[in-house]
Amino acid sequence: MEAAIVVLEEDPTFDAGFGSHLNRDGRVELDAIIMDGATLNAGAVASVQRVRNPIRLARKVMESCEHMMLVGAGAEQFAAAQGLPLCQPEDLICEREKKAWAKCSEGDHLAEFHFSHRHGTVGAVALDVQGRIVAGTSTGGTCCKLPGRVGDSPLIGCGCYADIEAGGVSCTGWGEAIMKVVLAKSAVDNLRSGENAQKAADAAVHLLARRANGAGGLILLDRNGKPGFAFNTSHMAYGYVALDGSFVVEV
Ligand code: ASP
Repeated sequence: MEAAIVVLEEDPTFDAGFGSHLNRDGRVELDAIIMDGATLNAGAVASVQRVRNPIRLARKVMESCEHMMLVGAGAEQFAAAQGLPLCQPEDLICEREKKAWAKCSEGDHLAEFHFSHRHGTVGAVALDVQGRIVAGTSTGGTCCKLPGRVGDSPLIGCGCYADIEAGGVSCTGWGEAIMKVVLAKSAVDNLRSGENAQKAADAAVHLLARRANGAGGLILLDRNGKPGFAFNTSHMAYGYVALDGSFVVEV
């Protein structure tokens, strides 16, 4: 699960790790979370500027920290203490996003300047043979956000949730709306109340639209490994490994 997210963080196609959106000051600030559905332990980081793979740092927080969430300079200090390499803030910036930011800085911020509006936050959910579910989410947040803005992604229950009694979820979309309906936990609660995987996903995204007027989507695995996907944005790229080992990819 962590390895899958690292690949996506390294790929500038997505708004996570290298190639993320810049904030209003022209810097990348990254958020990530990982959650273990067996123990309900989670680790989260927010507003980090010198960590290339924040999902790795989130895992360190989950496994080696007395706290569940660290932000900014404190999170980076913890990364260094744990032996994770720190990068320069500029190492996270790709040309495409620099140009988008420059255009937005000249006048109005327009969605079409941002290629990765269509290729946003990344996430993954994994279930092993022992029934253990882990979910994770990593993001650069929204484009031209105010410095210090944190969205849903690193917040337990909002951008990610996992519980072996029900399933695991990772979300993407407009964080300010997702937080209002605690989207990932809402989807897991749908599973808990007996909905099948697809219905649980659909109902959660419906709630996001109905109660928060929000746009977003989620990927989900129930405790038996059945996947569900839902979004009310124009599209959302997702894929999964089916129980027979085949890969299924959709946009
Ligand atoms: N949910 C993320 C945030 O609001 C952005 C995204 O998923 O594209 O920070």
